[in-house]
Amino acid sequence: MKQKICVHTEGSYEIKSLTPQLSTHPTNLKNESRSLSKKIWANDVITWKLETDTTSIEGRKIEQEVFKLAFLQIGLYIPNRIVQLNKQTADADIRINFSKTDSFWTSHPSTLAFAYPPADGIGGDITFNTKNYIWTPDGKPMSVTKALDLGLISGFQNSNNKLKTFDVQHTACHEGLHAMGVPHIEKSACDGAVMNPYYNGQRIMLQCEIDYLQGMYGKKQPNATQLQNLRKRIQAGVPY
Ligand SMILES: [Zn+2]
Repeated sequence: MKQKICVHTEGSYEIKSLTPQLSTHPTNLKNESRSLSKKIWANDVITWKLETDTTSIEGRKIEQEVFKLAFLQIGLYIPNRIVQLNKQTADADIRINFSKTDSFWTSHPSTLAFAYPPADGIGGDITFNTKNYIWTPDGKPMSVTKALDLGLISGFQNSNNKLKTFDVQHTACHEGLHAMGVPHIEKSACDGAVMNPYYNGQRIMLQCEIDYLQGMYGKKQPNATQLQNLRKRIQAGVPY
């Protein structure tokens, strides 16, 4: 069976059909016509795991924190819990990787990241393009000196230059929602949504996309204080 995947790019986007690789990853799914894959996760607890991190952010803790915030936000609105798996051996529903070598980047170099909607095997998996893009927790330009230090570039560079980077926090939420089955929401229907098809740096989910997610998984009313605090943390960004 072919699965649709999201191709989230800066300037254009497309939905691709790829045949998923087989995996022993056990999944529990149920039918839902509004999902990209026509399926959603059926378990009360949905799991995610950061399998590889990016060299453009030192250490691994910052990426973990960014994804934690992204999935906390998504999970606030639905009855299911979305939890992080830390165990090396455990297999998660949503597996996150930063990859230079994904063959998809060769034919789609402008793709920032992609995610598979709920399905067996690679369903739920998210991959960030580190072959052509630099990822940071804030999406702000990076100094050439820092990029040289991190080994992201080599050779002589004008040290006054700054390099463009992309916001992991926004993209984590966008791809995280795809991994739950949420499709793109066109700008005309919901301007400034995390799920607009093009990279926009938006980190806080708008009501229209919350409604879409809740339409599939059911509603949970978030605690107002908890929601406010989480939004503040997400807007402030993970310090690095
Ligand atoms: Zn997308």
